[in-house]
Order: sequence, then structure tokens, then C-alpha cells
Amino acid sequence: MTHQLPVGRSPPAGNERVISWLRNLSLEIFEEEEELWVPLGLKAGTVLASVAVAAPLASTWPKLCAVAAYTNVLAPVILLRAQYETQHQTILRKYRRATKEEISAHPTCPVCLETLKVATATPCNHLYHATCLRRCLELSPLCPMCKQTIL
Ligand SMILES: [Zn+2]
Ligand SMILES: [Zn+2]
Repeated sequence: MTHQLPVGRSPPAGNERVISWLRNLSLEIFEEEEELWVPLGLKAGTVLASVAVAAPLASTWPKLCAVAAYTNVLAPVILLRAQYETQHQTILRKYRRATKEEISAHPTCPVCLETLKVATATPCNHLYHATCLRRCLELSPLCPMCKQTIL
């Protein structure tokens, strides 16, 4: 296990293992959203287990099952989505997506040194993974490369 998160708060060890496993798969869909999908995926296991237990009881206690479905399924999804939105989207909304040409000229993320498939460009034209840039901006309003104020 040599993969280390360069800056900021690390997710719990289990999540990090799954995240780096997903990175190794190089699935583009997970490129930017892995921090949202991994906790959701882990949650899905718990949810499926509780559905399996609750399904036979649904006809006997439908209201109880509705409440259980809300607390186990809907509420965590809404919560995670809201958490993701505030942490990720609101910080990064002001930055544009890098073009394919920019990415091929600078194919490495300066924060984690991994390959960029999708990148966020700062006003100073430095490219980062959205997640890496967000982690840096949580600690400091400066561009990690040129130290211009970008937040
Ligand atoms: Zn990165
Ligand atoms: Zn910069």
C-alpha cells in the first residue's frame, strides 16, 4: 500500500483502500466522483442487508418499513449528496474544465502525480484533479503551483 493522499484530511482507511482500487481500474466515471460513490457503495451493502430482513415484514408492518426505508436509504443518500455538493461543487463551480489540448500538454496532476483524464483548470491555468484541488483549497486559498490567490 504505497498510495498516499498528499494533502488534507484522509478518508477512513477502508474507504481509501477502495478508492485507490477504483483508481487502479481507471474508470473515468469514478475519476471525479469517487469520493461520493465509494461511501454510497459501502452504504449499499448495509441497505441491501436491511431490505432482505425487512421485506418479509412489509405486509405486517408497512409503516415501520417505510420509516426504516427512509432512515436507511433516503436520508443517507440525501445527506451524502448534500455533503458532497457543499464540499465539492460550491468550491469548484467557479473553475472551468480543462480542454483536451491542455491535458495532453500537462498530463500529470501536480498534487497526486497521477495521470489526468479529466482536469479542472484554475484562473492561472494550472490543471488538477477536481478532488485534489478541492483538498488544497480547503487548507489554503492559494494555487498549489504558483501561489496565486484563486479562491
Ligand atoms: Zn490529483
Ligand atoms: Zn497556479
